[in-house]
Amino acid sequence: MEEPAVLERFDVDRIRQDFPILTRTVNNRPLVYLDNGATTQKPRQVIDAIVEYYTQYNSNVHRGVHHLSQLATDAFEVTRRKLKPFINSAHEHEVILTKGTTESINLVASCYGKAFVHAGDEIIISAMEHHSNIVPWQLCCEERGATLKVIPINEAGELDMEAYRSMLNERTKMVAITYVSNALGTVNPVKDIIGLAHAVGAPVLLDAAQAIQHLSIDVQALDVDFLVFSGHKMYGPTGIGVLYGKEKWLDAMPPYQGGGEMIKEVTFEKTTYNELPFKYEAGTPNIEAGICLAYAIDYINSVGLDQIARHEHDLLEYATGHLLEVPHIRLIGTAREKSSVLSFLLDGAHPYDVGVILDKLGIAVRTGHHCTQPLMDHYGIPGTVRASIAMYNTKADIDALVTGVERAAAMLL
Ligand code: PLP
Repeated sequence: MEEPAVLERFDVDRIRQDFPILTRTVNNRPLVYLDNGATTQKPRQVIDAIVEYYTQYNSNVHRGVHHLSQLATDAFEVTRRKLKPFINSAHEHEVILTKGTTESINLVASCYGKAFVHAGDEIIISAMEHHSNIVPWQLCCEERGATLKVIPINEAGELDMEAYRSMLNERTKMVAITYVSNALGTVNPVKDIIGLAHAVGAPVLLDAAQAIQHLSIDVQALDVDFLVFSGHKMYGPTGIGVLYGKEKWLDAMPPYQGGGEMIKEVTFEKTTYNELPFKYEAGTPNIEAGICLAYAIDYINSVGLDQIARHEHDLLEYATGHLLEVPHIRLIGTAREKSSVLSFLLDGAHPYDVGVILDKLGIAVRTGHHCTQPLMDHYGIPGTVRASIAMYNTKADIDALVTGVERAAAMLL
């Protein structure tokens, strides 16, 4: 697989040409896709790689001596090799391939919990977590007799860092926090969060599901213990995700599931486990998705995360300014540090109705609680309309959104 050249200049029209779906219409209107927080569209390079895999070398990985199996295994391992510099992990074997963010968090909550969480211990999350970063920790606490603590947020949707400081103590066994909130767009001060947790000896898991496609992340510079994300939110296929873990934790934790690639030797008396990363990769993985994630990484690298972040930040500012001009609009999530998410309500209208009207205009947004029900309860609302931005969005997309919201306001209020 050749390394792609980096684009010299960010050219959104050129980028859009790589995403075939963006040329289709919905309800006889050009598609305006602003549901990127749920999943991103895929560039032709990823789609072609999927077709190539199934037409040229479909085979199981890590098992066969035959030619196709070796091609598939090599291609699968290329992804791990590309992920290492992408997040700057110290070792390739610290990169575990999973089904996605949710599975990665469940793996850590289960395995770390068994090894390190005991009765009376505490686990800290925040009020803005996705259900995937709440429920696994609730299960862990129930099983281990530990207590879940929740960092509160202010009205803007920023963490109360004073409250966080006061929660940390020698009983804290894990801090699990989202890097970027999927419902508010808040970018959390993760470096400070990690430093404070480490000062009491607690590791930190960062949920980077909404960060990895927008910000460049260096796990060593952050000194983060676990980092999790999904392929499908970063222009790659569904069914593949990543768990980065520091070697010392991954070595010390028991395996997650048994079978397949995770064994070294099995007898009926005793099984010994394979080395990292395979210890945590039981069973046949999603081979096609694993292989094709490498093409998504290449695509992001070819555009450049710094250029992507700049473009998305400009669009976010543009969209915020114009949406705030719409009568009866209320933005939910006004943190000083934000990335790519606009959550809003039209006062007096249900978010679902706004979403249906936007859909009629060919505009895809997400409506509802965004898998953050406790956060919606905090604001006393049933949900929001969420527009989420990706590298291929344009000012024309935002103009269409604003016009659509004005139409919705005129019809519903
Ligand atoms: N965490 C955050 C912040 C998310 O936005 C999401 C998905 O929306 C998840 C976790 C779960 O990701 P997945 O469904 O890919 O496992």
